[in-house]
Amino acid sequence: MRSHYCGELNETFVDQEVELCGWVHRRRDHGGVIFLDVRDREGIAQVVYDPDTVESFAIAEGVRNEFVIKVTGIVRLRPEGTVNNDMGTGQIEVLGKQLEVLNAANTPPIQLDDHSEVGEEIRLRYRYIDLRRPEMADRLRFRSKVTNTVRNFLDDNGFVDVETPLLTKATPEGARDYLVPSRTHPNKFFALPQSPQLFKQILMAAGMDRYYQIAKCFRDEDLRADRQPEFTQIDVETSFMNEEQIMTVMEQLISEVFKSHLDVDLGSFPQMSHAEAMQRFGSDKPDLRIDLELVDIADLMQEVDFKVFSGPANDEQSRVVALRVPQGASISRKVIDDYTAFVAIYGAKGLAWVKVNDIDAGIEGLQSPILKFMPEQVVATLMQTLKAETGDIIFFGADKSKIVNEALGALRIKVAEDLGQVRDGWAPLWVVDFPMFETASDGSLTSLHHPFTAPACDAEQLAANPLAALSRAYDMVLNGTELGGGSIRINKPEMQQEVFKVLGIDEEEAREKFGFLLDALSFGCPPHGGIAFGLDRLIMLMTGATSIRDVIAFPKTQSAACPLTDAPGSVSGKQLGELNIRLREQAPAAQ
Ligand code: ASP
Repeated sequence: MRSHYCGELNETFVDQEVELCGWVHRRRDHGGVIFLDVRDREGIAQVVYDPDTVESFAIAEGVRNEFVIKVTGIVRLRPEGTVNNDMGTGQIEVLGKQLEVLNAANTPPIQLDDHSEVGEEIRLRYRYIDLRRPEMADRLRFRSKVTNTVRNFLDDNGFVDVETPLLTKATPEGARDYLVPSRTHPNKFFALPQSPQLFKQILMAAGMDRYYQIAKCFRDEDLRADRQPEFTQIDVETSFMNEEQIMTVMEQLISEVFKSHLDVDLGSFPQMSHAEAMQRFGSDKPDLRIDLELVDIADLMQEVDFKVFSGPANDEQSRVVALRVPQGASISRKVIDDYTAFVAIYGAKGLAWVKVNDIDAGIEGLQSPILKFMPEQVVATLMQTLKAETGDIIFFGADKSKIVNEALGALRIKVAEDLGQVRDGWAPLWVVDFPMFETASDGSLTSLHHPFTAPACDAEQLAANPLAALSRAYDMVLNGTELGGGSIRINKPEMQQEVFKVLGIDEEEAREKFGFLLDALSFGCPPHGGIAFGLDRLIMLMTGATSIRDVIAFPKTQSAACPLTDAPGSVSGKQLGELNIRLREQAPAAQ
């Protein structure tokens, strides 16, 4: 139907007849001539109809934004003074000879010819219009190119693309499962995979040696911030490689993606232990573009007459930290109040601060509501420890370690953003030496990664002191975002049983849920490990999109619904009957 894409045209086509197909981006009637900006995937071309072409002119008068048209015309240079250098095709225009309306369009709910703000609900409901916007289309095409590079790299390195089932049994990655009722097995349910974890391990038991898959994963989480119930992972597993070897190949993969598509050299990735990341940055995914660090000051605060500090300073499970922010003394009381509200989200009960107005003036040069509680000597040592300088503000966190880490870790980022203290560029790293387990709110132990992650110690040490055990897991972090996480896995059934035991999964439950894995580990399963990268997040970072939804063609809303198709929807009584399901009169409130 078409001879060229609109966006392809330039001066070299002058005097050529072309056929263009696309959407009317904008129509302007300049009394006597009609201008149509015609848009397709590759760009926009200006087409002019004058009244000499009577029939086409009449049609051009009738077209409206987003009509789909076919244009036949001759390319010519734009008249002097009308060249538009902001437009790829701005040197030329097409003198329209024929015009065919391929389809009409109602007035679009999203205007594409100007930058009006449209609510997300509308954007998602009319996604086909939203995706016509060049920045949206460009992101999807960028994504396609990146996955292509990923596939080529992995293919070249001997990885085999294997699809794993979507209708399966639960794989615990720490979220709720999406369940699918079985018609053929009444009262039984499939779970959609939270990840292909167990299948990829079983492929290693099967001798596949190197596997990958660009895999859909499903997690029914409360959609905090920027998560999607269904998302895509670059999922990888290998046999007979240790963690250093796996990290090296995966670093090469991500470096190649950045080099090919952004012309960015990520350099070599430093490694940092989980303990160090938590201590210095309050986060297991530190943004190394920010220099601010948390400094432990519990030693100094044990004796002070200020319970807010001395209490946590004398408690093993708590931390007292200071966050020194250069040039922060100019932060207003109002903004400090905002920061206090901000840290409260993470459970902090307040936000103590000291402004350093003049470091040479001793205590007189400091301004703070809390200094009166502290001996002058402690304050002086504190300033020395922090290497405080005139113009700084120092924030404090004193509470259970978890609260301090989360609150001050988040504040570190927020303040740096507000003060323009985030460096440009890319700061990748590996976080390693994670603990195997953490304590849940009910006191039970849960896996920090997943229960198939190998410990760095032997089974006896694990059983004796599970909370002290480190795992053989590694996370790749970029600019404060976890790009991917993986580990060496347990490949012996005894060790797997031991981990289940620590997690409170008894033998019977282990058999029932993971018997197939335990069997696979018992029939010659090689040492193996792998990783999974969040593809959506990777693309979001690379394109600079602010939401993960902007790099997914058909994302769900914050409440896990699809406004386009109106899913999830009701089903007929007949369908429910076939599934042996009866609905409650009134749906219970979501927990
Ligand atoms: N299955 C893990 C996840 O989805 C990744 C891995 O361990 O390879 O987070």
